[in-house]
Amino acid sequence: MSSNFWKRAIITILILFVLAGIGLLAYIISKKSEPVILPPVKVTNVGLRSVIGLSVQGREIEAYTYGSGPKQFVFVGGIHGGYEWNSVLLAYKLKDYLLTNPSLVPANLTVTVIPDANPDGVYLVTGKTGPFTVADVKENLPSGTGRFNADKVDLNRNFDCDWQATSTWKGNIVSAGTAAFSEPEAKAIRDFVLKNKPAVMVFLHSQSNAVYASQCGKGILPETRNIMNLYAKAAGYPAVDVFDSYAVTGAVEDWLSSINIPAITVELKTHETIEWDKNLAGIKALLDYGGKEEVSI
Ligand SMILES: [Zn+2]
Repeated sequence: MSSNFWKRAIITILILFVLAGIGLLAYIISKKSEPVILPPVKVTNVGLRSVIGLSVQGREIEAYTYGSGPKQFVFVGGIHGGYEWNSVLLAYKLKDYLLTNPSLVPANLTVTVIPDANPDGVYLVTGKTGPFTVADVKENLPSGTGRFNADKVDLNRNFDCDWQATSTWKGNIVSAGTAAFSEPEAKAIRDFVLKNKPAVMVFLHSQSNAVYASQCGKGILPETRNIMNLYAKAAGYPAVDVFDSYAVTGAVEDWLSSINIPAITVELKTHETIEWDKNLAGIKALLDYGGKEEVSI
């Protein structure tokens, strides 16, 4: 074969290489300039922390929020402070559980957990501000230690339903503050409620082993009765319309009833247990119920 043939062959191969290179380059550039379309990101909250107020001694009252639906369900622990420290542990457990199981919150709900509504009272018993463990709980304290806030007021007598300056707790006369909402911890709950207008509120206490409804002189709201029965049945606690062991004035749940917000009280069986499986079942039942679009709460 002639040398011309080889020259042409080599030149042709080189041209093919160059063309292939240009083609490849064009392909890469065209790929890079294609607009990247990401799937839409759902704006939601997973344990978003906020501070709703400060205690008498300046401790933060924290709230943790999950989901971004229009109906807000709120769980509150520890309004009776260190005396009912297990209610605070239960609320912290719920806060952590929702962090790893955010799908528990239906799309149309927002869930907020306020683990400790009386942090000064909890500090008296645990020596901790914020999360604590059972090992932190001091032993052999006088009965009732940590129930009140640092003004010695029973916070669950400081709300605006039949408020009186003194009230009762078992056989004791307790201070209910100088006026409804005189205490910063009660103000914090009030302001949170008036700003957020929750659909449902659940207050965790111990140790009467029951779920109670609420009312403020006008009977139990129908939705209060619904959620009381739902929670009680799922959790396996008795449902009780009215707490009648002794007269209570100025309770937060009753104030909520007066402004048409369904509210229930969950009383754990003892002062030490959190009865997690039972309460998780109750909480799931409530969230399932609230997740149904046809439910108007
Ligand atoms: Zn209590």
